[in-house]
Order: sequence, then C-alpha cells, then structure tokens
Amino acid sequence: MATIAFIGLGNMGSGMAANLVKAGHDVKAFDLSDAAVAQAVEQGASAAGSATDAVAGADAVVTMLPAGKHVRAVYEGQVFPVAAPGTLFLDCSTIDVDSARHVGGAAVDKGFKFVDAPVSGGVAAATGGTLTFMVGGSADDFAAAEPFLQAMGKAVIHAGDTGAGQAAKICNNMLLAITMIGTCEAFALADKLGLDQQKFFDISSKASGQSWSMTSYCPVPGPVQTTPANNDYQPGFATAMMLKDLKLAQDAAQSAGASTPLGAQAEALYAMFDNLGGRDKDFSGIYELLIGSWGKN
Ligand code: NAD
Repeated sequence: MATIAFIGLGNMGSGMAANLVKAGHDVKAFDLSDAAVAQAVEQGASAAGSATDAVAGADAVVTMLPAGKHVRAVYEGQVFPVAAPGTLFLDCSTIDVDSARHVGGAAVDKGFKFVDAPVSGGVAAATGGTLTFMVGGSADDFAAAEPFLQAMGKAVIHAGDTGAGQAAKICNNMLLAITMIGTCEAFALADKLGLDQQKFFDISSKASGQSWSMTSYCPVPGPVQTTPANNDYQPGFATAMMLKDLKLAQDAAQSAGASTPLGAQAEALYAMFDNLGGRDKDFSGIYELLIGSWGKN
C-alpha cells in the first residue's frame, strides 16, 4: 500500500480521498480549509499542515483543485521542490489543456511521473467510488496511475498523451451542453404545440432524438424520476460548473483553431442563465429559461 498526498479536499476530493483510505492507502490530507482537513481525518486520513508536508515522503500525489492557476501554483511552488524523484502525480482537477501540458511536461522533465485524470460524475460518484477517469500521460505513467484511479472510480480510460484527459473532458462536456440545450428546446416546442411531454419523451427516447440528456438526465419533470428536474433543479451539476467547462472548451478551440459555433452558442446561453440567477441551479434548469418560465414561479 502507498503513502498518498491528497491536496484539495472539497466537494469532490473529500469522497475521493476517503475511497483511497478504504483501499488501504495511507492518505496525508491537505486543503486551505481546516474544516476540509478535519473531515478527511474523520474519514481515516492523517492531517498535513501544508502541501509540502503532505508531499514529503509520499509515493503519489493526488490533486483535486478548482482551476489551472491553482494546479500550476501548487505543483510549481509546493510539489516539485519536495517530491522524491519518480513520484507519481495525478491531477484529477478539470483545467485548461495548456496548463495540464505545461505542468505535466515540467513534471516529466524533472523525472516525475504525471497523468492528467479529470473525472466525469459528480459528488455522489466521488463518494461512491464510481467516477469515470479520462487519463492523459505516457503508457508507463498510465499503468502506474491506474490502480489508484480504480480505487476511486468505475472506469479508467487512457485517452492519449499528457493533456488528452483534459481534452476529452471538455469535448465531452461541450457536447453534453449542446445536447442538453437541444433537448430543452425540443421539449419547450413540444409543449407549445400542445404535445404531452411524457408522450414526447416516450417517442423521442426511442427515436432519433434520443441522447443521454433525454434518457438519463431528462430536463423536464416526470419522465425520469431521478433527475434534478424533479427536485427544483437542485444540482446535480451546477450551471456555474458547466459554464466553466464551456469557457475551457472555447479557449481550447481558439488556441487549436477549431470551429465550434454550437459550443460558442452553448457558452453564451449558459452565461446568460448564470447571470439571470441560474448559477447554482442544475444545468438542465436552462429548460425554464428556454420555455420562458424562469423567474416567474
Ligand atoms: P471545491 O471548490 O469544492 O474544492 C476545491 C478545494 O480545493 C477546496 O476545498 C479549496 O479549499 C481547495 N484548494 C484551493 N486551492 C488550494 C491550495 N492552493 N492548496 C490546497 N487546497 C486548495 O471544488 P470541487 O467541486 O471539489 O471540484 C474540484 C475539481 O473537480 C474542479 O476542477 C471541478 O471542475 C472538477 N469537477 C467537479 C465536479 C462536481 O460535480 N463538483 C464534477 C466533475 C469535475
């Protein structure tokens, strides 16, 4: 069993660190929030007083931080200077591809192992150990990281070289946003045309309009009982988080010279929903904006 430094014990990191403890690892936990560290200790981790304390003597370092600037600062300022040669780094945060390549490239140049391993699945999947990991890095580094990721997830997929995990994540979420908005528009039009929404679901979920946004995450109340639509659009996956991923996708598209007009439109619509107060609502709540009921209930 390994000694693992876990940095970033927020909504996601807390459950992930607990699953590494359950798998028998010695987890040294650090977060800027003392309360987050205290919770990790309750779950069987040991408290580290700083990121450098956590990293010193660790076989592996897992980071689950908000954005690229935090990942760059933590690795460059606190992880690289104290980690032993050959230490494995797993950055599970969702960040921009450029930062992942920058940090990962620097880590490998310094003789460390590095994978970018962003996740699909929310807090429940982090707690339940059922995340999907999309992993970028060399074949050797992927092989070293896989057992740790398996302890926190149900699927671990090698996407390609460093940065490929982040690339897969933002492409997937851009597609998710587009299909969600399209599904919401179709339900809104069906309603205006006097079509019963359950009937439209019964038909479209078995016809060519079918998608995950329709059948697993239906944005109108009723057809799929477990979705946020049945719970006043409590997240789930918050609009603010989707907007963050769409901005990353647009930044990446611009730097790669890719044409993503629907991704740009999705970002604009989610920015509008965010501004109108939908920030903390589930991203499927954009249905209320598109049907014209947002703010009226
Ligand atoms: P969060 O804000 O709850 O947690 C981030 C934690 O990092 C906080 O506890 C914060 O105190 C800590 N932190 C920030 N800077 C730090 C530093 N320098 N040193 C130590 N700790 C530091 O965020 P989250 O919801 O857990 O998300 C984490 C990452 O996972 C994000 O990149 C997010 O996009 C991604 N993600 C989240 C979800 C979700 O549903 N919440 C789903 C998939 C991916």
